[in-house]
Amino acid sequence: MKQTKSISMPVGMHRVKITMAFPLRWVNSYVLHEPDGTITIVDPGPRSAETEQEWYEALAGLNLTFQDIKQVVLTHHHPDHLGLSGWIQQQTGAPVRMSTRSRQEADYMWGPDATINRLLPEYYGRHGMPEDKTEQIGGHMEGFNSQITPLPVVTPIEDDEWLVMGGKKWLAVETGGHAPGHLSFYAPDSREILCGDAVLPQISPNISLQPGSDDQPLLSYMEGLHRLGALDVEVAYPGHRNPFNHFADRTVHLLTHHEERLQKMMERIREAPTNAYDVCVLMFGDRLGTHQLRFAMSETLAHLQELIRREVIVQKQQPDGVFLFIENT
Ligand SMILES: [Zn+2]
Ligand SMILES: [Zn+2]
Repeated sequence: MKQTKSISMPVGMHRVKITMAFPLRWVNSYVLHEPDGTITIVDPGPRSAETEQEWYEALAGLNLTFQDIKQVVLTHHHPDHLGLSGWIQQQTGAPVRMSTRSRQEADYMWGPDATINRLLPEYYGRHGMPEDKTEQIGGHMEGFNSQITPLPVVTPIEDDEWLVMGGKKWLAVETGGHAPGHLSFYAPDSREILCGDAVLPQISPNISLQPGSDDQPLLSYMEGLHRLGALDVEVAYPGHRNPFNHFADRTVHLLTHHEERLQKMMERIREAPTNAYDVCVLMFGDRLGTHQLRFAMSETLAHLQELIRREVIVQKQQPDGVFLFIENT
């Protein structure tokens, strides 16, 4: 086993682990102490009775109350990050800040006109997923509503905007792929980055192709890794697992990982035309629960889309409506 020394949090910053579902188990929320005694919370975590209680206890442990929250800042719209922000805002009136693109994506997922819960099972069906699996998807998606209700009123953050959090200046760096409009926050003076799920240690952040969202998510993600990898970073504070060093190396590793995955899919398609679900089973196995299967299927589709963009494969719809991916000869 490679020994990794644990990185302690700097003065004025605390990490609060908020419970979430398997396999991630927890999301890292960061509490940054402002010079005037207030705090900024980055990514408060998904909402549930359990996580509300965790915040009461965490704030009490820091001799703080909800009234000390100056602002909530979000890296991206996923329920495990945005979830409690509207609930905190209701209690405190604190501004909730995230990118405009992330806010749009929250509406696309959970807004009053959202259609994704209906579109996604149809989409997966057209890509070969059997009906006994697609029919689980809609109910699974609806399960997230309680984690994100109420949605916050958002004060936008623009790409390249400077924010003051914990008495330090942080640059907002917007990169796509894992989530459209994802923001990392980079403090050049202390060489720290709050990187949300853009770069994670040990885990490859999920890259999802979903109908009506970013139509080139893997390309967006890889472009983002190049941008983030160029920053001079000493310590990275991720959304999951533990703070880590060697941030630039991790971006290179993730780029390599995706190239290898593209290569493996290409080899499969070269053998014979195939649908996305069969590629998904080859890459991720056929024993996944609904949540993992959705991530695996959309990740597979994101990679296939990148192979199409590179003009090494094409997709053709069959008479039964299912799309086959074929080598572009
Ligand atoms: Zn995420
Ligand atoms: Zn996350």
